[in-house]
Amino acid sequence: MIDLSDSTRQFIDLEEKYGAHNYHPLPVVLSRGKGCYVWDVDGKRYFDFLSAYSAVNQGHCHPRIVGALKEQAEKLCLTSRAFYNDTLGPYEQFIHDYFGYDKILPMNSGAEGVETALKLARKWGYQRKGIPEEKALIITCEGNFHGRTITIVSVSTDPEARADYGPYTPGFEVIPYNDPEALASVLAEKADSIAGFLVEPIQGEAGVNVPNDGYLRTCFELCKKHNVLFIADEVQTGIARTGRKLCCDHEGIRPDIVILGKAISGGVLPVSAVLADDAIMLTIRSGQHGSTFGGFPLACKVATAALEVVEEEKLAEKAEHLGNFFREEMKLFENPFIRQIRGKGLLNAIVIEPYNGRQAWDVCLKMAENGLLAKPTHDHIIRFAPPLVITQEELKEAIDIIKKSIKSLESD
Ligand code: PLP
Repeated sequence: MIDLSDSTRQFIDLEEKYGAHNYHPLPVVLSRGKGCYVWDVDGKRYFDFLSAYSAVNQGHCHPRIVGALKEQAEKLCLTSRAFYNDTLGPYEQFIHDYFGYDKILPMNSGAEGVETALKLARKWGYQRKGIPEEKALIITCEGNFHGRTITIVSVSTDPEARADYGPYTPGFEVIPYNDPEALASVLAEKADSIAGFLVEPIQGEAGVNVPNDGYLRTCFELCKKHNVLFIADEVQTGIARTGRKLCCDHEGIRPDIVILGKAISGGVLPVSAVLADDAIMLTIRSGQHGSTFGGFPLACKVATAALEVVEEEKLAEKAEHLGNFFREEMKLFENPFIRQIRGKGLLNAIVIEPYNGRQAWDVCLKMAENGLLAKPTHDHIIRFAPPLVITQEELKEAIDIIKKSIKSLESD
């Protein structure tokens, strides 16, 4: 167990007493971050191997992104969309040039981005595909994680995320992940009423489930064949995390709708985005969707800087190279706790085999003690996703901490 200092205990007690208990954090209290490091209230330094669930790909407090925030904060923060402003248009053009889609619909959280994509798919289904009123279906996958709204948890297969939130939103069907046959079969049966197929290119929250090579391409082609929108939730996998700008780029496919969030702002503000071409995007007209903050001036400037950093610092190439290094190094490490190592780029996970009475949570506590933060997902899987600005030297040091921590639990 980590020994908690008085100040650490104080902050934890405040959250316990005055905050809802909807998270179960590791017992560390952070007060500062820089690059791939964070520091706790006692000044202890840690490698951050969660990166706020892949939101901090550009590293903590990147000076370029924070600079953009400060500069814009002193000029104009929020106008709402009741008026035009001088940041949104240039940002939209920048996103068009960066990702190659006709248009962006800017939102704030990842879940809002997903909701927006679902609404777009339904609109398109009724207005363009000709699905009869109220009959539109959207296909999703078992093990998905798309956020926390009522509609999104309606398609969740995780009882923790879903239980007691009913009645659930109708109009969805859930099929097995990484199973193109399952998609082929539901499309063969119901294609006329199916508007879209919503999929994570890698299931992050489910434990970094990497589908077989070719899965995404086959699904994409099936969708094309049946005039169904292929909707990629790249909230966690996008923005260089897996070694490409978008994870779908690994298979050379261009989704009809892309949902981005998290690292689009480098973890500085909640910013999300839905990308699509005109034939889809223009089915939503004025007054039919929106958000007070969506595309606000601060977000536009921060996201532009964050995406420029990704290009300038070649973060996709770094993620690819360092990800290979991480998996190779970890695969050389044989240990009874390690059942499997998997991932793409710098989105990786170790499946932990309980051993010596210890579980993934104990491994995370031990790593924290030794100066590295990571968090279990689904009890037995630990995700390893450092900021992409980490250097190979730093990564080596971090790998040593991971190995040392796991090893010490063998006999502890
Ligand atoms: N989609 C995916 C793939 C995610 O991983 C997440 C969050 O982890 C979300 C959507 C929801 O994003 P947010 O927490 O910003 O609502």
